[in-house]
Amino acid sequence: MNRRTLHIAHLFPDLLNLYADRGNILTLTQRLRWRGFSVEVHEVTHRDVPRLSAYDLILLGGGSDREQGIVAEYLKGYKAELKAAIEDGLPVLAICGGYQLLGAYYQLPNGEKLPGLDILNMYTSAGVGLPRLIGNVAIETPDAGIVMGFENHGGRTVHEHEPLGKVLHGHGNDGASGFEGVRYHNVWGTYIHGPLLPKNPRLADVVLTTALQYAGVKEPLEPLDDELENQARQAFLKLRMPEVETSVPSL
Ligand code: GLN
Repeated sequence: MNRRTLHIAHLFPDLLNLYADRGNILTLTQRLRWRGFSVEVHEVTHRDVPRLSAYDLILLGGGSDREQGIVAEYLKGYKAELKAAIEDGLPVLAICGGYQLLGAYYQLPNGEKLPGLDILNMYTSAGVGLPRLIGNVAIETPDAGIVMGFENHGGRTVHEHEPLGKVLHGHGNDGASGFEGVRYHNVWGTYIHGPLLPKNPRLADVVLTTALQYAGVKEPLEPLDDELENQARQAFLKLRMPEVETSVPSL
C-alpha cells in the first residue's frame, strides 16, 4: 500500500557524515517502506539550494572542525529561513557537529568561533587543553527509553532547553551537567553516533511519527518486530556498559 511519500533531506551528505551518520537515513527509509510508505531522500550539498518547504524531515550529521567551518559559512544565507521553518515545526535530527551548528557558535580549540545558526539558545566551546569526550554512551529519555551509541566530540555544549536525556554512561553535552542533547519543538539534537537510529528503533519511530504528523499523515505507525535490534542493544550494553544493563528494568 502506497500511502504517501515522505520527503527527507540529508543536508551535506558529503561533508557531515562522521561515523556513518547516513545510516540514520537508511533506518528511517526502511522503517517507512516496511510500513508501506514511499520515501524520497534529497541529498543537499553546499552547491544546491535547499527547498525547506518541500521537506518533511531534515538530517544534519556530524563533521570534523574543518567541514563544520565550510557548512557554517554556507548556512549563513539560510539562517532566517531555517529558523522560521523550525519554529513552525519542521522536524530536524541533528547529530554532533550538526547539533552544535544549531547554537550561537562553536568555539574551536584555537579560539576561533564558527558562527552557528543561532536557532537554539546554546553555545559550544572546545576549550583549550581539554580532552575530547570519547566513548560509548547511554542516556535515559522520556519518550524513547534508553538511547545508546558512541560519542566523540571536543566541543562542550551548554544550553537551558530541555535535554534529549539524562546520562547513564558517558559524557553527554559537556561531561559535567549529566544531560545529553536537546529537544526543542521538533528538533532532536544529540552527540550520539552509532549511527543513532539503527541502534535505537524506538527513537527512530518517535522521529518518524513526528515527521508523518508534520506531513499531514494522521494514521499511527504500525509496530515493527524489533526483536533483533533489541537483542543487539542488550548485547551492546552487557559488553560495554554492564552497569546500565543491570540498572534498567527494560530497554
Ligand atoms: N568537530 C566537532 C567536535 O569535535 C564535532 C565532532 C563530531 O561531529 N563528531 O566537537
